[in-house]
Amino acid sequence: MAGELGDLRRKLDEVDDRIIEALAQRQEFVNEVAERKAASAGALRDMLREQDSLTRLVGKARDAKIDSYFVTQLFREIFDHSVRRQQGQLTARQQPAAEGTLVVGYHGIEGSYSHLAAIKHFGPRDVELACRGFNGFRDMLEAVQAGDVGCAVLPIENTTAGTINSAYDLLSKMNLALIGEEILRVEHCLLAVEQVPLGRIRRIYSHPEALTQCSEFLSRLEHCRQESFVDTAGAARKVRDEQDLAQAAIASEDAARIYGLHIIKRDLANQRENYTRFVVVAKEPVSYAAQIPCKTSLIFATRHEEGALLACLGILGTHHLNLTKLESRPRPNNPWEYLFYVDFEGNIGQEPVQKALRELSARTSFFKVLGSYPARTTSRPAEPRSGPAPREADEAPLPEERPVVSASVRELLEQKPYKLASRAQRGEDTLVHVGSVTIGGTRPVIIAGPCAVESPEQIMACAHAVKDHGGDILRGGCFKPRTSPYSFQGLGYDGLDMLAEAGQAVGLPIITEVIHPSDVERVARKSDILQIGARNMQNYALLKEVGRVDRPVLLKRGMVATIDEWLAAAEYILVQGNQQVILCERGIRTFETATRNTLDLSAVPVARELVHLPIIVDPSHACGTWRWVVPMSRAALAAGAHGVMIEIHPDPDKARSDGPQSLTFARFEELMGQLRR
Ligand code: PEP
Ligand code: MN
Repeated sequence: MAGELGDLRRKLDEVDDRIIEALAQRQEFVNEVAERKAASAGALRDMLREQDSLTRLVGKARDAKIDSYFVTQLFREIFDHSVRRQQGQLTARQQPAAEGTLVVGYHGIEGSYSHLAAIKHFGPRDVELACRGFNGFRDMLEAVQAGDVGCAVLPIENTTAGTINSAYDLLSKMNLALIGEEILRVEHCLLAVEQVPLGRIRRIYSHPEALTQCSEFLSRLEHCRQESFVDTAGAARKVRDEQDLAQAAIASEDAARIYGLHIIKRDLANQRENYTRFVVVAKEPVSYAAQIPCKTSLIFATRHEEGALLACLGILGTHHLNLTKLESRPRPNNPWEYLFYVDFEGNIGQEPVQKALRELSARTSFFKVLGSYPARTTSRPAEPRSGPAPREADEAPLPEERPVVSASVRELLEQKPYKLASRAQRGEDTLVHVGSVTIGGTRPVIIAGPCAVESPEQIMACAHAVKDHGGDILRGGCFKPRTSPYSFQGLGYDGLDMLAEAGQAVGLPIITEVIHPSDVERVARKSDILQIGARNMQNYALLKEVGRVDRPVLLKRGMVATIDEWLAAAEYILVQGNQQVILCERGIRTFETATRNTLDLSAVPVARELVHLPIIVDPSHACGTWRWVVPMSRAALAAGAHGVMIEIHPDPDKARSDGPQSLTFARFEELMGQLRR
């Protein structure tokens, strides 16, 4: 008997060996196919051919009395693997891998589902792989940003439990690129130190998510407690370490192998088909060949316009880009507003995708492309459409597009170094919303406050004056870019706290200048608007940084900058994603010395003709003397400015900066009377 069984087992081993040989042979053919496809422009994945092959194989399996579900699953895996290899080869041809080992970050410890996803994703590639576990998502992504790991796999959604919110929130905050995705079938198993009967288990450990996914199984167990653990593999390790026969863990089959545990029961989840989707996150984006079916992910915030979300999604539709996911998350600092996360099928290297993205950015107030990457979830080939032929993307006008640009201006605009800011891109005026204040509409916005925040009392007094006399936004410098290093440099973050408190006390939004790229994120947490001063108009590192945050930016014109240079600087902010840019004319250097600068009011109608961004005038820094601030404020509004920014001080003679140009509260009251009339 034993001899017969041994014989049979040997025969089985031989068959298994032959299966491996056949797979190796198949892989060689796949490599050859990849070479051919790289030379042509044909698509890498031919879903119709895969479907035909599957039908043929299932027929053959039926004749051979093999279960067709099993055969379908098996060959889907084989086809998938082959497409991955081809993609890997194609990408490697384009961008030869850096020498050495690829270090990939994952969440948890060895054997966690994230670890398995990392191996599944990078396994088929010809690279030396080293995986590094992290306790939290943030630590892991910061390691990517710091270059400590080459990339990381981040779980983003589960077909049973839904979206993983913390992952999405980190992606919007951090500056990282998506370069891949992976789908992992999650198969929860019950693991114990020995093959003990279920009835003897008293405690089960696992990640809370896994416990939820197995709730039906767990509810049937009597006298058994469930305990949350940071990750599934960690729970398995604990069970191994403690060697207690009454304990078990819910984790993967691989965790059982790694920690030497026995599988007491498989398939514990309420839903049999349980998948987790991971994204591969890197510091820099990767570009993929056109033959590789890709997905593109982006984040945006809509403008406050009727039907804004519909218009944005409509743009994808007009360019025939298939939306595969739409998710919304609360927009930080803006209660009851949302950031939308969108995935669609398409590669950013393709012209229609680029066109759609350009149109989308003009419809949004914040816009960030996370990246294009090879798609792992494939859509079945689309049904041929019936009915009238779709319109060409080019001729389909956007729903609310109003052509307000004349032919001669349009011609002029074509030569300009800015595209997103241009009226050619967006006909209507852009409105920037700050709390309940709208900048860019018909009602002029008054920004007022001291040149610099000097003390809690000083800024609080100013806040009350601004509020009492009908101003809209409180200004106050905390980081002062002074011409002389011996002048007052501002109170820094202490000043910002005072400004924020004063704004809050009277219910006004605040604006303050930021002068260093590394301060942007922190200042943006407190200040409703970020100001870029005249001296920093061409500080491109700073412009890029404010372009990445979701906060309105007021961009002052440099004192020796042409209008085109100023608008090109605004473009630097827009291309990074932040569409909430407000221009500010504050006077330029001329031969005239009677005023501190020469207020170039013609810049107002000129800029308004060329770009769709709102424009504010600062007569205080232009005049340098308070007496001319009132008439020039009126002139600014007459010229078409969307508002003014005025310096005021409780006692201008004692001001630590720009006293001579600051209005007393009484004079500010008089100005407000004149402007509101
Ligand atoms: C300011 O508004 O505080 C300021 C420094 O102005 P500018 O950058 O226009 O000189
Ligand atoms: Mn000033």
